Amino acid sequence: MPAKQLARVIDTPQPHWVGDGFLVRPLFADLAFTNAVSPFLMLDYAAPVEFKPSAKPPGVGPHPHAGFETVTIVYNGEVEHRDSAGNTGVIGPGDVQWMTAAKGIVHEEFHSRDASKRGGVVSMAQLWVNLPKANKSAAPGYQDIHDADIPRVELAKGAGVARVIAGSLDGAKGPARTFTPMNVWDVRLKKGAKIELPLGEGENLVLPVFHGAVTIGGRAVGAGKVALFERAGDSVTIEAEEESMILLLSGKPLDEPIEAYGPFVMNSKADIQRAMDDYRRGEMGFL
Ligand code: MN
Repeated sequence: MPAKQLARVIDTPQPHWVGDGFLVRPLFADLAFTNAVSPFLMLDYAAPVEFKPSAKPPGVGPHPHAGFETVTIVYNGEVEHRDSAGNTGVIGPGDVQWMTAAKGIVHEEFHSRDASKRGGVVSMAQLWVNLPKANKSAAPGYQDIHDADIPRVELAKGAGVARVIAGSLDGAKGPARTFTPMNVWDVRLKKGAKIELPLGEGENLVLPVFHGAVTIGGRAVGAGKVALFERAGDSVTIEAEEESMILLLSGKPLDEPIEAYGPFVMNSKADIQRAMDDYRRGEMGFL
């Protein structure tokens, strides 16, 4: 298997608050919303933060999305979701919520009421996945994916474990339904591990390191940094210098025009205007 070559290591951007609930770092930095990371659009990582007990759950009130999917992965704490299509759900550690905004949805994202009353550590990631032009007008959808339904693949030589959220690895298939082919794997590596993982030729590969430190092609990639790869090649080799937690993201690039404006990601300014008009007219629903 020819290995994909490291193209760039993206530096850690400064964190900012999303509502009062999530202190996130936008890890793709200047490559967010470009075809260099397609089909992915952006990744916010909220490192563990201790919250005091509160009767009023912190988070983000009702807001729209259109043209893409939001994927929320909880590591600590609980996130509660409600949307204008009538979906509600609470996800906890290891769980994933895969929301398809497509033609438009309004939702809210808070720490769960129960977890908020108790207080404690919350950490999560939110990945935005683009939709092909042909699917941006699809009906909104919602997948609540529980930890127990996510296959765990033991890596060779006791190197660690990969939870396959989407895509497939070693015959294990991730439960997430996606519009285009992609892998989303929550990978935990032991210190000193060296692994080679099979991927698709021509796929984009983006590898954020949440904790620990890895070496790829002789270059160090530390916590909070993102390794971006060339499309050529069908495998990746990773060495863990410390116990590490990474999110492996690979997929077939869409290579269509990307026009992003706030919570809307379309193919042109005219499409953005249409989405804003739809939202103002109430066509994305209400909470
Ligand atoms: Mn949102």
